[in-house]
Amino acid sequence: MLEYWIQNGECQAEMHRNANVGKILKDTIFRRDGSLTCLSRSLFSMLNPRGFDDVSQKLSKSLKTLKVTEKKTCSFCGSKGASRLKGWMFPFIIDQAKFPNIYPNGKVESLNICKSCLVKSLQAYGAILYSGQQGARNTIHINAIMFFSNDSSSLADFMRTSCSPAIIVDYFTNWKPKIRRDVAYFPYEFLMQMLDYVASKMIELGGIDELGGLGAVLICFSQTGRSKKIYECAEVVTALSPLVQALSLFNEGAEESRFFSLFRSMRKEIPKRKVVADAFVERNKFFRMLLSYRKIDWTSLEDIVFYRLTLDRSILYLDRFLKEVMKAMSDPDAQYYDQVSRQGWLLGSSLLRRGERPKAVKASIYELRRERSDLGKFLDLVNDLQLKAESGFDDRIFRENERVFTKLRTFFLIGMSNALFQRSRESEKGDDR
Ligand SMILES: [Zn+2]
Repeated sequence: MLEYWIQNGECQAEMHRNANVGKILKDTIFRRDGSLTCLSRSLFSMLNPRGFDDVSQKLSKSLKTLKVTEKKTCSFCGSKGASRLKGWMFPFIIDQAKFPNIYPNGKVESLNICKSCLVKSLQAYGAILYSGQQGARNTIHINAIMFFSNDSSSLADFMRTSCSPAIIVDYFTNWKPKIRRDVAYFPYEFLMQMLDYVASKMIELGGIDELGGLGAVLICFSQTGRSKKIYECAEVVTALSPLVQALSLFNEGAEESRFFSLFRSMRKEIPKRKVVADAFVERNKFFRMLLSYRKIDWTSLEDIVFYRLTLDRSILYLDRFLKEVMKAMSDPDAQYYDQVSRQGWLLGSSLLRRGERPKAVKASIYELRRERSDLGKFLDLVNDLQLKAESGFDDRIFRENERVFTKLRTFFLIGMSNALFQRSRESEKGDDR
């Protein structure tokens, strides 16, 4: 983590060759008038910050008076003569008690830093992209990401072209407030929206081959009141290129981001009730699995689909999204998606065509969902419905791939739900007439 942090500092130095640390900070995490943002307030809470000028003075004074001792070795570059790393130099993992698992070797008593790495470390603040969300009471959920790459110069190029144009500082975000995006409480949601933006930027610039080893450091925490801070996660996500590629294919040809529509419709908010963090948990879980493990979290997805089913609203562009993502992840089961979801869709729509009421079809979908482990029972249920619908059903894919039964069942249920969504869209159109 510290390595990525310093690398971002180097990259900032490269991007803003003649700018001092102060300018870099001011442009990215303080507001134009020098007042604090939710991030700068929290990052520099150790310095008791009042505003940019105050922080800037304290930083330069601390830099000048930094005491290095020959006994300490810089934990980053290994040079002799360093000082103990403090929160305002590297705000994330400095305390062994707080992060025993990720602290180097678990043995080191403190992380140390030399003067030149310290300057880089301060410059790294300029590479943070963040977004804050006011939660219950006076709690603010802050998500921050920092991209990294194979080397600092390609990272600098990437930042210059894809991220810098989006930086305009507000109290709750430094990511251009006017870019169309949904409320995001959690870090993986935030990163996905950022990647969607990056993908669109890349298309504009004519190519997304240059991403190389693009990854992101992800930090999230909530702050209540002035001083209480709890880090909820600090993680590293690597190899983002395939996802950026999938996003750009997914959005291809659309005037506005399809991802935005999909993403927005994956919330679980209760209509007409205030938006609360709970509404975003499943969506974050889904994207966490996608970003960290390169897998589709079918369980969470099914959960969201069924939630949407209670509202008679689909997840927009879901089929298209799943296909692009499964392709990008080289998911071996992707080959069954089309066929099985189509089977579900056929069953649902023939039932509706035979005069079955949407409510009854919905009930059947729930009944099928309850059959989680027994393939035989599931197929019996499907057969009963087929008889009612007087349509055919080929169960070979299910029988030949019993090991992925739960996945296939989800494909099937997505398809069957689609038939219902389609029906309710059509009847809405009918009402408009
Ligand atoms: Zn050093």
